[in-house]
Amino acid sequence: MKIIELLKDEKPCISCELFPPKAGSELQNALKIVDEISVVKPHFMSVTYGAGGTSAGQTVAIAKAVEEHGIPALAHLTCIDATEEKIDAMLQNFRASGIQNVLALRGDAVTSGVKEFAHASDLMKKIAATGDFCIGGACYPEGHPEAGSLDKDIENTKKKIDAGCQFLVTQMCFDNNILYNYMYRLLRNGIDVPVVAGIMPVTNARQINRICELSGTKLPPHYRAIVERFADDPQALMQAGIAYALGQIIDLIANGFKNIHVYTMNKPEIIRGIKNNLSEIAK
Ligand code: FAD
Repeated sequence: MKIIELLKDEKPCISCELFPPKAGSELQNALKIVDEISVVKPHFMSVTYGAGGTSAGQTVAIAKAVEEHGIPALAHLTCIDATEEKIDAMLQNFRASGIQNVLALRGDAVTSGVKEFAHASDLMKKIAATGDFCIGGACYPEGHPEAGSLDKDIENTKKKIDAGCQFLVTQMCFDNNILYNYMYRLLRNGIDVPVVAGIMPVTNARQINRICELSGTKLPPHYRAIVERFADDPQALMQAGIAYALGQIIDLIANGFKNIHVYTMNKPEIIRGIKNNLSEIAK
């Protein structure tokens, strides 16, 4: 199924993200996580690519397993070390595995110097030319760290849409006012594709500081206080992180922002906690 159909439907769409295990480690564990998450029936599951040194083959294997559970998979694909031939082979692999949705990205990893695709929009053009896939892209409510300005960031996001990107998934954001403001800016600039809000329940205090630093995402002071208070109590932080994310999600849905992507950090209990508490709200 093409994810764009779910995003355009009037009902809320609650999805989640998985990342493959590091190269060389067990795929079996990742497939077990897919089994566990499938039980709570997210509307789709995205599977990251290359991030943190994971291999492309694992992305395909996991996305294929997601599809076999009857859940649409969104396979990520990056420009890192990508050549025309490699992308053709990867897309063929996607087709053969029943994968119809691709999140096309530039990626961040250090490369061997191959730069056939400089930006996500270049990759999107290539994928769009096949006519086979529903294409999504990343967007940045607080601006991409390299964009230079928020206006430039939007200008570059527009290039993705012009290249065939049909929907956007936001970088994680902990402040709904930033998301609402961003939506106005997108619309003012003629970008009216569905936007999926990326929500991350914070469950690891040390990790979140690093993630915020790298991505340029701000942790609001009141959330920082919660994270610091429960930093040494993982179970309490898990509860607090899920509760904060639920507050954000309910507010978003109430205000018409109905497509939500949960960054689950491969912890099934996170998406379970979110979905169970939305059973009446997101039906
Ligand atoms: P681009 O759109 O190429 O943008 C990169 C920078 O270049 C931006 O500053 C942009 O403003 C600028 N730019 C864009 N187009 C142009 C242009 N034509 N001329 C000049 N400047 C331009 N990384 C992974 O490695 N694997 C993943 O699976 C992965 N999944 C992600 C999922 C989401 C939802 C998000 C938000 C990010 C993900 N990332 C992943 C990280 C992502 O690769 C980085 O954020 C990366 O720095 C930018 O990717 P992009 O696709 O937005 O790139």
